[in-house]
Amino acid sequence: MAPPLDPLLETVAQRIIAAADELTALDSAIGDADHGLNMKRGFEAVLAEKQAILAKPLGEALKTIGMTLVMKVGGASGPLYGTLFMTLGKELPAEPTVADVARALHLAVDALKARGKADFDNKTMLDVLGPLATHLASGTASLVSIRALAAERAQATVPMKAIKGRASFLGERSIGHMDPGARSSQIMIEAVCDVLEGRS
Ligand code: ADP
Ligand code: MG
Repeated sequence: MAPPLDPLLETVAQRIIAAADELTALDSAIGDADHGLNMKRGFEAVLAEKQAILAKPLGEALKTIGMTLVMKVGGASGPLYGTLFMTLGKELPAEPTVADVARALHLAVDALKARGKADFDNKTMLDVLGPLATHLASGTASLVSIRALAAERAQATVPMKAIKGRASFLGERSIGHMDPGARSSQIMIEAVCDVLEGRS
């Protein structure tokens, strides 16, 4: 049985809020130094609405999280993370299996690609989220392998040249830095794994 949404939401939000300085530092290297603050603002707003969110069925709860992120995060990442959560909300059944999550995440990644007109290897959050969807669909995923994949995929953005988003303005100079959105995605995935393992 899936764990209740409360600890998942709380832990994801708290980890993102705690990582604000790190995310902003990454964004100061290849962007405009606001990713940490953007995400912190968004997840503080989600926490402020937590009780109302938890009163809803899973799908509606995820859609509300997505809409809150669109409204509060701003920047490029707000609409993108908003699209991610809203698509998950639309596609997930009330009691999702791993296969359900794989399918919903795959559709969310497609929606995110369309929304940002981006593809894999463009040095964005897609480079973490896309491979995760594929890994979950393989049927061989474990909490250990999911954590390792997310860390490896965030790291894999370091040598990439940014093709999308603000970092692309830097061209070759975007090489050698981790993508802030890839790192925020990794932090969320790790938070979910920790809750599922009872570590949070
Ligand atoms: P902004 O770039 O508007 O300042 P943020 O700093 O909050 O917004 O978010 C930057 C992150 O958003 C990037 O690190 C990248 O992962 C992601 N991103 C930017 N543009 C795109 C895009 N077109 N498709 C997917 N992700 C993107
Ligand atoms: Mg930014």
